[in-house]
Amino acid sequence: MSGEKVVEPLSFEKSAPGRKGIPWPVCDVPTVPVDKNIPAGLLRESPALLPELSEPQVVRHFTRLSHLNFSIDTNFYPLGSCTMKHNPKVNDRIVQIPDFAGLHPLRPHELSQGILEILFEVERWLSQLCGMDAFSLQPSAGAQGELTGILVARAYHEHRGENRPVVLIPDSAHGTNPASVALAGLTAVTVKSTPDGQVDLDDLYQKLNKEVAMVMMTIPSTLGLFEPRIQEIAKKIHEAGALLYMDGANLNALVGLVRPGDLGVDVLHVNLHKTFATPHGGGGPGAGPVGVKKALEPFLPVPRVALENGVYRRKFDRAHSIGRVHGFQGNVGVLIRAYAYMRLQGAEGFREISENAILAANYLKAKLTPLFPKMPLGACMHEVVVSGEGAFGPGVRTLDVAKRLLDHGYYAPTIYFPLIVPEALMIEPTENESKETLDAFVETVRAIIAESKSDPDKVKTAPHTTPVRRLDEVRAAREPRLRYRP
Ligand SMILES: *Cc1c(COP(=O)(O)O)cnc(C)c1O
Repeated sequence: MSGEKVVEPLSFEKSAPGRKGIPWPVCDVPTVPVDKNIPAGLLRESPALLPELSEPQVVRHFTRLSHLNFSIDTNFYPLGSCTMKHNPKVNDRIVQIPDFAGLHPLRPHELSQGILEILFEVERWLSQLCGMDAFSLQPSAGAQGELTGILVARAYHEHRGENRPVVLIPDSAHGTNPASVALAGLTAVTVKSTPDGQVDLDDLYQKLNKEVAMVMMTIPSTLGLFEPRIQEIAKKIHEAGALLYMDGANLNALVGLVRPGDLGVDVLHVNLHKTFATPHGGGGPGAGPVGVKKALEPFLPVPRVALENGVYRRKFDRAHSIGRVHGFQGNVGVLIRAYAYMRLQGAEGFREISENAILAANYLKAKLTPLFPKMPLGACMHEVVVSGEGAFGPGVRTLDVAKRLLDHGYYAPTIYFPLIVPEALMIEPTENESKETLDAFVETVRAIIAESKSDPDKVKTAPHTTPVRRLDEVRAAREPRLRYRP
């Protein structure tokens, strides 16, 4: 690792024996040695290794660390396919209300009517926004939603006595799709794209046969493009007895404008931690609810919330269910945030979100087009993909430009994805950024491109101002330093 600049020592390095956060009052009850009550085998042999610090030291340490962290709260974060948009803080406040935060999942339904109603309503909102008949709220991420959707589809075909082991996936799909297919025990077969980034229909229709359980399409595709022939494709898929799965993780450009169910989609997942108000990026909890059409509903995971005679209940008794994919009702905090956000936006608000996300991406695309000789043609949806090929100075690659953007206070866009675009930069501005921010970003890209020609080494060795400089990425992956060693 070259050029590592440590700006904040570890708390352990600042530790001094005996230092304390707060002075505890003298104990006024009799003390009992721990080994009187805890079995010897469970006791530590030596004291826990913990830093000893004063409270101001701890507060300052974590405040400084929080500023080292790049986040949507500090800077523009145009990470393609991730929808790093601003999430209104009010939704975080709502989920922290003690009546929500303190709920126990085993509380009987008579005492949990409020939360069960919210979950029921989230399912209804998602069904209406997506044009589907039912949703499972259990999956805790997009990829788990995919796995759930595939298992539901597999159960559906098996129930009909059909053996369909293959799932077709266009090469412009998200990388998690083939992985989820493999996890579900099916075989992923790739469908090619045409040079303009759309699905190659000849290749798709040729591969569509009695073996195919589903076609999994990412809509909009990872090129940020909408598939205009989707209804025709859906018809062909259904004629072959297969199902159409939509990876709807990037619903931010469709919600309020298009209902996937109306396009012929049979199964989809959406990422609440992208479009519906849960901050993400740090590996926190997410939710990837799965929506289905009526024929697939019997196979959804249990439990689901039902309304019977004015009372909400968790229902476990579904004969054909694939079972549980998560404990209890899923990541309920994420679902409450989504509910608050949906109530805040309404259908009209969602339409505006999509329109502004599309406008921002196309604005960026128009401004970036003169800077990138190999710009894909046509309008995009929520994100714009550009190819760095032929755009930069000698020996400078997309990776270097992405690193140099960090020096200017921008999070780097997604790079080298989608795989079908050489030297790809995938930029998703979202609906939240002002024209000033977008203009400043374009000017920075322009300046870095100029610098890559006048001073290529400066770009190739970037970043120069971040707490950690250019990493040896292979070594960082092979020998990660995850542990503090005294
Ligand atoms: C983010 C994303 C996923 C994966 O979602 P996770 O919650 O990270 O598992 C899948 N597909 C697409 C198109 C995505 O953008």
